[in-house]
Amino acid sequence: MEPFTDAHASAARRILAGWPACDRCLGRAFGKVGTGLGNDARGRMLREQLGAPTVPVGACALCEGLLGELDALAALVVERLGDLEFKTFLIGTRVDEDLVGREALAHAQATNEAEAITSELNREVGKRVAALTGKEADLKKPDVQAVVDTRFDVVELQVAPLFLYGRYRKNVRDLPQTKWPCRRCKGLGCIHCSLTGKQYASSVQELIQAPALAAFRARDADFHGMGREDIDARCLGTGRPFVLELKEPRTRACDLQALEQAMNANGPGQVEVLGLRASQRDEVAWVKAADAVKEYRARVVFEADVDQAKLYQAVAGLRSRAVDQRTPSRVEHRRAMLTRQRTVHDIAVEQCAPGEALLRVQGEAGLYIKELVSGDGGRTRPSLTELLGVQARVTELDVVGVQEPPRSAPSAEQRRAQSQSSASR
Ligand SMILES: [Zn+2]
Ligand SMILES: [Zn+2]
Repeated sequence: MEPFTDAHASAARRILAGWPACDRCLGRAFGKVGTGLGNDARGRMLREQLGAPTVPVGACALCEGLLGELDALAALVVERLGDLEFKTFLIGTRVDEDLVGREALAHAQATNEAEAITSELNREVGKRVAALTGKEADLKKPDVQAVVDTRFDVVELQVAPLFLYGRYRKNVRDLPQTKWPCRRCKGLGCIHCSLTGKQYASSVQELIQAPALAAFRARDADFHGMGREDIDARCLGTGRPFVLELKEPRTRACDLQALEQAMNANGPGQVEVLGLRASQRDEVAWVKAADAVKEYRARVVFEADVDQAKLYQAVAGLRSRAVDQRTPSRVEHRRAMLTRQRTVHDIAVEQCAPGEALLRVQGEAGLYIKELVSGDGGRTRPSLTELLGVQARVTELDVVGVQEPPRSAPSAEQRRAQSQSSASR
């Protein structure tokens, strides 16, 4: 049965009278008519129905030959993809505005069943790229989107990032979590930072990401930690959760166990990575939003000798207590000044001598431990200093536990990512 009615035929006649059109361009004006047909077949059928002469694509007044270049455009995409690893892709196209304008005029002559030229290009180039590469098109979450600019024959690639989850231990002090730009030159490189642009030679992020950038051939990475410890604090115990976001990776699969070993061998003894596995974007939001309860060990010194009974009494006075903390003076220059209330879930004396003590503190996310001890000149109340009546100060601070807060049930995607990562380990 012919899919085209008399109304279609007379519309086709009007289009051909205005624009000698190739089969694809004629058929595209009726692209939603009939199923299982290509626009080229639609165009041929209409032309036969009308007894109209064939118009070679090179003489087409609508596409000016563009739809004769599908193979060449696909080859351009494949060349641009080069050695990029991907399983799924999506094609996008940009076309000349004049062409879009002519097409709009032509389609106005038709029956409101037209397909846009970019849609046809995306599909037809996509089919050819699939055939050439053996990879699948994915409209929703492709590994790579190739946008073909048909005006200049250039292809822009948008490579989906990859995410890795892990926990890190920081076994040394004076190592920031993330790259810290030089205070003097703000990262440009100057004499004070030996042209590195950095305040500290390295960071947890840099030590962890370098092997990942190499393994995944990624351009850059973002480090998303579940909070951060002070530069001079260690992070021990089960470590701190993080998600590493790898940008524009050219490799999408690698042996994560070997990568974890490479991370641990990079700056050995400084940073250790545990439980590295594949992750997803939604885990970034969880890591960043998570209000993790943290446990610390703090070495504290007192300005005067402290009676043991009095110390135990002061510590008991902080247990399960909500504490008001004004923004600490040490971070005041980069944080807004406000007062937060944070709970000390638990606090205990582990060791003590007249002039010093070792405390274990479990606190709500955001509790400042150094200020809880020192009082920060009255900005934190109550504090150990206030309750003791003797100035106390933290000399060494370690994070010894970061409790991952519960998360909503994992999505199907997360479960898939997890089973994939365990398969590759
Ligand atoms: Zn055409
Ligand atoms: Zn500098």
